[in-house]
Amino acid sequence: DYKAQIPIRTDDEVGRLAKAFNVMARSIDEEDMRKREFLANVSHELRTPLSYVKGYSEAILEGMVKTKDDEEKYVRLIHREASRMERLVRDLLDLAQLEGKSVPLRKVPLVFSQVIEDTLAKYEPFLCEKQLSLTTDLNPDIIIEGDGDRIEQVIHNLLDNAIRYTPNGGTIHVQLEQTDPRHCQLMIRDSGKGIPKEKLPFLGQRFFRVDEARTRKEGGTGLGLAIVKQIIYLHGGTVSFSSEEGKGTAVFIHLPIWTE
Ligand code: ADP
Repeated sequence: DYKAQIPIRTDDEVGRLAKAFNVMARSIDEEDMRKREFLANVSHELRTPLSYVKGYSEAILEGMVKTKDDEEKYVRLIHREASRMERLVRDLLDLAQLEGKSVPLRKVPLVFSQVIEDTLAKYEPFLCEKQLSLTTDLNPDIIIEGDGDRIEQVIHNLLDNAIRYTPNGGTIHVQLEQTDPRHCQLMIRDSGKGIPKEKLPFLGQRFFRVDEARTRKEGGTGLGLAIVKQIIYLHGGTVSFSSEEGKGTAVFIHLPIWTE
């Protein structure tokens, strides 16, 4: 289905040139397709909350909402949908910045366990609310070179998912260890609903959700893991997943250790 492709008739220089041209033309087409798809996704993601906001506000304006209680309920729904759009736009801008040309990081040596502990502390109330128990096993000697705010964002996004996709009373385990003299691994493991094996390769693609309807309702933007992947990539690391349906999910972040 590519637009510009030249038939290759000879095996000489002209033939090779045609071949090279075809490869380039295909990659331009593919980039074009990706952009279109992305734009379609963004529009779709924004349209749903927008139509709620419009519908609920019209109901109020047209006097269809009779009681004060109902009015408050509608205003709350409008606020929820507006917040969803705000999150979506924030994540989109963030991703654009992280994927842009200028290096968006301010890297300094960080005591990794400290960053993790500081971030986890902010989650007490959410863990309490769902009666989740959090255990940690953090090597305190690991130093990485990173942007503290961005590393915190990674932990935040992963923990957010672990909490969101784990039912009440579940467990979350966070482990930091050195895997070889130059690398470390952060693992965040939950006892949640898990992810089917065939879906694992798609994790981290923008707007990919395992369970479209359900997870959108649960409030995620579908960009959390894409942001995680990009931040870790910019730190010279990798992200991988392992999961079993009904048993839980583990996310592994591999990063280089800082050396003077
Ligand atoms: P979202 O904002 O929808 O959570 P993410 O990019 O963070 O977007 O995650 C993409 C999808 O991966 C989620 O919609 C969910 O289906 C799945 N997922 C991510 N983390 C977990 C987890 N810990 N347990 C189960 N499913 C998960």
